[in-house]
Amino acid sequence: MSALSVASRQRQSAPNVSFEFFPPKSDKMEAKLWESVARLTPMAPNFVSVTYGAGGSTRDRTQATVAKIAQDTPLSAAAHLTCVSATKEEVLQVATEFWNAGVRHLVALRGDPPAGMGEKFEQHPGGFRDSVDLVQGIRDYDIAPGARFEISVSCYPEKHPDSRGWDQDIAFLKAKQDAGADRAITQFFFEPDVYLSFLERARSGGVTMPIVPGIMLQPNFKGLCRMAKVVEASIPGWLHELYDGTEDDPETRDLITANVAVELCHKLADQGVEDFHFYTLNKAGLALSTCRMLGLKPKAQVA
Ligand code: FAD
Repeated sequence: MSALSVASRQRQSAPNVSFEFFPPKSDKMEAKLWESVARLTPMAPNFVSVTYGAGGSTRDRTQATVAKIAQDTPLSAAAHLTCVSATKEEVLQVATEFWNAGVRHLVALRGDPPAGMGEKFEQHPGGFRDSVDLVQGIRDYDIAPGARFEISVSCYPEKHPDSRGWDQDIAFLKAKQDAGADRAITQFFFEPDVYLSFLERARSGGVTMPIVPGIMLQPNFKGLCRMAKVVEASIPGWLHELYDGTEDDPETRDLITANVAVELCHKLADQGVEDFHFYTLNKAGLALSTCRMLGLKPKAQVA
């Protein structure tokens, strides 16, 4: 990219960003998470979210992490919540605990079956049937006087493995919106057209809520390929080429990862996309450099 095009990029308004973290499993990971949160805070994200382990396995850690973000930082904290392995009452109790801890935003998901993706999802006896039922359940539940969670949901521009076809997927996403979802966040993807075609389908199907692209910042290419296989997201041939031979070179992989993310965001921004959700994997450096290259400045530096 020439100096001229860098300058013209910088004249475009900087995007809105959000960051996704996972709850740490060890003291070392915990220290890294809080260092990442501190380094990313000046980017003034719309919100930061914390994932909920499969089957609610990280319930306590998710809760402790989002509560600390809500209470000890200026950030807006969002807690992921799933329907798996819990009754409706248990799920709503967790939502209430999030609310009481100062969390005002949920990412409401069906979740994967306890045996893992690929297995058939079975509704827990007494549990929510699916993500639409969960969103409706949260909206119908009287958590506290005047309480209203902001609710984000997922969507899948390359289809989820459980997809019953595009028409049903879009109708299902519309049902999440009708049940009270405020925003959808996409599964990761690498080609802008994947997102743009999905957006067109969703808009034609009556989905009017924001659909925020989820941008993956995974520099471990082998790990990315494993993840993509499970969730049936495609990894383009050119990405294989870029990482080829970098197996023992994490520094180069980081640079590739940030550049790929920036280029994808720029292409989407050229089509009018203004919000990006970054899957940070709890690493600040990649998210920070990506944001800087998209024109975001630390808040203190914004005059
Ligand atoms: P849904 O979107 O509810 O459904 C999955 C697919 O099945 C869709 O294609 C949908 O159209 C179809 N489908 C389901 N029910 C119906 C129906 N009744 N009629 C027609 N079609 C139907 N997992 C975690 O365990 N913890 C997390 O914190 C977490 N965070 C995530 C965040 C994001 C942004 C994304 C994209 C995914 C996340 N996941 C998380 C993964 C997610 O839990 C899995 O992909 C899970 O298999 C599906 O849950 P969902 O709410 O995304 O599914």
